[in-house]
Amino acid sequence: MTVETVVIVGSGPAGWTAAVYAARANLRPVVFEGHPFHEPNRINGTLPLGQLNLTTEVENFPTWPFADNAALGAFSKSALTPERYADLAHLYEGKRAHHGKRAATGPEMMQWMRQQAENFGARIVSDDIISVDFNKRPFTLTSRDGQTIQAKAVIVATGARANYLGLASEERFKNNGVSGCAVCDGALPRFREKELIVVGGGDSAVEEASYLAKFASKVYLIVRRDVLRASKIMAERAMSNPKISVKWHRVVEEVLGTDEDGVTGVRLVSTQDATKETLSIAGMFLGIGHTPNTDFLKGHIELEPSGYVKWTVPFRTNTSVPGVFAAGDVADSYYRQAVTAAGSGCQAALDAERWLAEHE
Ligand code: NDP
Repeated sequence: MTVETVVIVGSGPAGWTAAVYAARANLRPVVFEGHPFHEPNRINGTLPLGQLNLTTEVENFPTWPFADNAALGAFSKSALTPERYADLAHLYEGKRAHHGKRAATGPEMMQWMRQQAENFGARIVSDDIISVDFNKRPFTLTSRDGQTIQAKAVIVATGARANYLGLASEERFKNNGVSGCAVCDGALPRFREKELIVVGGGDSAVEEASYLAKFASKVYLIVRRDVLRASKIMAERAMSNPKISVKWHRVVEEVLGTDEDGVTGVRLVSTQDATKETLSIAGMFLGIGHTPNTDFLKGHIELEPSGYVKWTVPFRTNTSVPGVFAAGDVADSYYRQAVTAAGSGCQAALDAERWLAEHE
């Protein structure tokens, strides 16, 4: 069996940035980008191209100021293969096309990153890695379709997925008023000067509420108990914001809306006496935590109690297994931004390159 130099698992900003750097260092990386047709991947938000591919406009990734939609379309047509351009064509052509200036969207950025990695020679496999053997080198990885691959170094960049409530009505309005990421979507016109809810009572939820309050007319925090889990300072910041109010002892029973308008309301139910109420809102944001995509690593690499991969050397992407590196949200529960994920993808490729140079 051929032993690959570097295998990268994951295809978000961290994975593709690692692939660009590894390819340019002549490490001939193989990227397992995920299985595009495995139904649980669709349901869990773990399809190829990661979380950014599930968002709309990305205004905070440096390099992409607002540009005319036609210019972005011309860029995609010029940069991508016709097959990959077809995945984005609806943004530029036909009924759903944008008009005027806008930021690049997550799906565009992910296609561009993927293309960039491929242009430098990264080989891409459309499959999930479902098990690993890190006990001996070269490492062995097995894919969902049964492929076994050996590698001298591995970069794990499988990301994390936002937790959702699991309601059918919530699924129906994802990207149409339901979002797992306030920083990604909160400033969109559909949410400006509108009433919104954030579900959850932890730091993510209060942070999302504070962020959304900059744009929204009102933000309700929907908390299932009578206390916030959030840190005192962050909770106090949110509580002192006149635009934020808390609905204690409530959970969301159903998201209301239409296909045309997206979310128009939610029905809440009391956790104490089952009384119901309906709120008219334009958006529901989830702040009920994230789950790192590390199931296939359990028992093979050291994980934090929260399930995130543990970085074992300060300011480096090393893990508990020498030769295995981690990049992006799979190891970062704190920043969770596309640009920080891309940065750590670069670090992981450089760390792997240096480690290989020392150990080969
Ligand atoms: P947490 O697990 O801390 O909080 C999750 C919140 O969601 C809790 O209030 C929980 O309620 C609630 N919740 C969970 N499931 C449901 C559900 N099904 N229905 C309704 N409510 C639900 O997750 P976070 O993402 O907030 O934080 C994760 C970590 O990241 C923490 O360590 C946090 O401190 C850190 N973080 C730090 C930030 C910062 O410092 N700037 C920003 C964001 C996160 P209950 O309390 O009842 O369990």
